[in-house]
Amino acid sequence: MTASSPLVPGEEGQAPLSRSIDAVIFDWGGTITPWHTVDHRAQWHAFAQGMGAIACSLNDTASAVLAAEDRAWERGRREGSSARLEEILREAGLEPEHEATQAGVAAYREFWEPHTFTHPAIPSLWEALRAKGIRIGVLSNTIWDRDYHREIFARDGVLHLIDGDLYSSETPWVKPRTEIFVAAAAAVEADPTRCVYVGDRSFEDVHGPQSAGMRAIWIPHSDIPESQQVSHDATPDAVAHDLADIEHIVAQWSVGRPLR
Ligand SMILES: [Mg+2]
Repeated sequence: MTASSPLVPGEEGQAPLSRSIDAVIFDWGGTITPWHTVDHRAQWHAFAQGMGAIACSLNDTASAVLAAEDRAWERGRREGSSARLEEILREAGLEPEHEATQAGVAAYREFWEPHTFTHPAIPSLWEALRAKGIRIGVLSNTIWDRDYHREIFARDGVLHLIDGDLYSSETPWVKPRTEIFVAAAAAVEADPTRCVYVGDRSFEDVHGPQSAGMRAIWIPHSDIPESQQVSHDATPDAVAHDLADIEHIVAQWSVGRPLR
């Protein structure tokens, strides 16, 4: 079945199903990775230490980058615009290519590493969905680049299970902008109305994909800071308290789909 397949016949006596599922696209932080509360000041403190900054200069550098990052995410929530790590460093008065800045970035990544590991339930979930002919996508709001995200997936042995991935850092937008979900559907070669999106933030991951015609599965366990929450009105199509629930939810929406 392709993204452009006609209506799927329903059971006898029922209206035809207008949709089946061709792809399931996943959020990264708090969805593919277990939710961790990360100390955002501490990450830039580690960065400044990595740069070799000491005492006052260390605190000034950490404060400047933290403020630039906060402004970038605030613009994202307000305007839907994306940002990149290099831009944030520049806004904080640093030269991204400078050797000291690079040493800071290495320390920053080391700080982040414990929070980047793929949830142990993900490989079997992705394999089960793919065995049913459903493609796997990733769409993340991130200031990190594609190569870095893919290194993480490769380290965890799941990169080969991803059919299409998109990172806000390589687009003009962040979630919940409709455009980024349309682009993520294109990355897995599916019509948005035949995609499911899975994420842990109601505004970005339920309201956003639904605006593009996707179904949304919400994972309600993350402790999203109040400062990052945006007032909105959205009801998920399903709630998954466990990643393993996703296979069953998608199977229920895939009635009429031929077995492979
Ligand atoms: Mg998330």
